[in-house]
Amino acid sequence: MGKKNSNKVYSVETELVYSPSGDQHNASVAPLYQSATFKQPSLNDMGEYDYTRSGNPTRTHLQNHLARIMKAKHTFAVTSGMGCLDVITKILKPGDEVIAGDDLYGGTQRLLTYMHNKGDIVVHHYDTTNTELIKSKISTKTRMIFLESPTNPLIKVVDVKSIADYAHQVNPDVIVVFDNTMMSPIFMTPLDLGVDIQYESATKYLNGHHDIMAGVLATRSDELAEKLFFVINSTGCGLAPFDCWLLSRGLRTLAVRVERQQQNCMRIAEFLSQVGFQVRYPGLKNHPQHELHNSQCRGYGAVLSFETGNIKLSEKIVESTDIFGIAVSFGCVNSLISMPCKMSHASIDAKTRAERDFPEDLIRLCIGIENCEDLINDLTRALLKSGAVKVNSQDELYLTSTAKL
Ligand SMILES: *Cc1c(COP(=O)(O)O)cnc(C)c1O
Repeated sequence: MGKKNSNKVYSVETELVYSPSGDQHNASVAPLYQSATFKQPSLNDMGEYDYTRSGNPTRTHLQNHLARIMKAKHTFAVTSGMGCLDVITKILKPGDEVIAGDDLYGGTQRLLTYMHNKGDIVVHHYDTTNTELIKSKISTKTRMIFLESPTNPLIKVVDVKSIADYAHQVNPDVIVVFDNTMMSPIFMTPLDLGVDIQYESATKYLNGHHDIMAGVLATRSDELAEKLFFVINSTGCGLAPFDCWLLSRGLRTLAVRVERQQQNCMRIAEFLSQVGFQVRYPGLKNHPQHELHNSQCRGYGAVLSFETGNIKLSEKIVESTDIFGIAVSFGCVNSLISMPCKMSHASIDAKTRAERDFPEDLIRLCIGIENCEDLINDLTRALLKSGAVKVNSQDELYLTSTAKL
């Protein structure tokens, strides 16, 4: 079935669009099996599929495709990014100790805190950018380590390989978990850095169109894959066939989308820096961990954040853009603007945010594939309207005192 060369591995841009469907009619796009049940060939022969909670050809096709792209041996598509984390934490035992970053995605923080408060697991949050600190906290009691890099919206970079190597040295059974939503498989291959389980919110870049919720888990370990599959099959959180099919469609354009988004983001980061804002983007040479980021990634993604020094001013800017929609999330083809403290990170209480030096005036931009001039003009209009910047006689923008940091 299929083409002779379907075992050959191509570069990721090619792999994204090259997906032999193995279909009986040679359909050029793998068909959608919108079927919950499959008849058995005979009473004693279950056949490959019996019930979609356990497996479905459309999900298998997506997962095989993702495995090639993420350089994984096993991948699983589930109902959301948070669904991935739920599956992963279900393989822990009561009382297990885990180490997590202190600038994690808001939903990750919420789920880990919920489990901690119920007494399911013991969670320790540390600044994971401090490699020596994390190393000093890893012990034989540590069961799992949760990492994200760059974090969002503070854009802090974590030395993934050093932490993963050290953790496995201290305890070969420790499970290092990495959330790769920010970089996508185009810019980062966490499994190559020694991570045991990688997951991503496919709601973001992988699908790219904000029309489905999905999550993807990936591992090279047969043992972990078996445990993850057991939980997915038992709880029924496998991704529905139609959503698998849509995700397969979105995936084909992943490379062109994120490359264009990154190109736009870099220009916008440079524009905002030039105006005088303090911009957080790993692609800027003045990012404190620019080199570390380069050592583990092939690109910088399309999320940046900047401070204005004034919450009211930030609110005005956010409310003054036209092309940039005010929305949580990122990874979509269109550009978004948000204030994390009031939106995506509102699930982290104000006291914890303050302890972590989370700037309440921070604006996050998630850049899409639009014309970059249009985006910069839209931002310029919003900055002018808000009073954050003015134009001097040379037609250059400068920060006004309301925005002086
Ligand atoms: C969005 C996001 C998640 C959660 O994914 P959902 O698909 O929304 O459940 C997890 N981690 C990061 C970094 C995210 O941005």
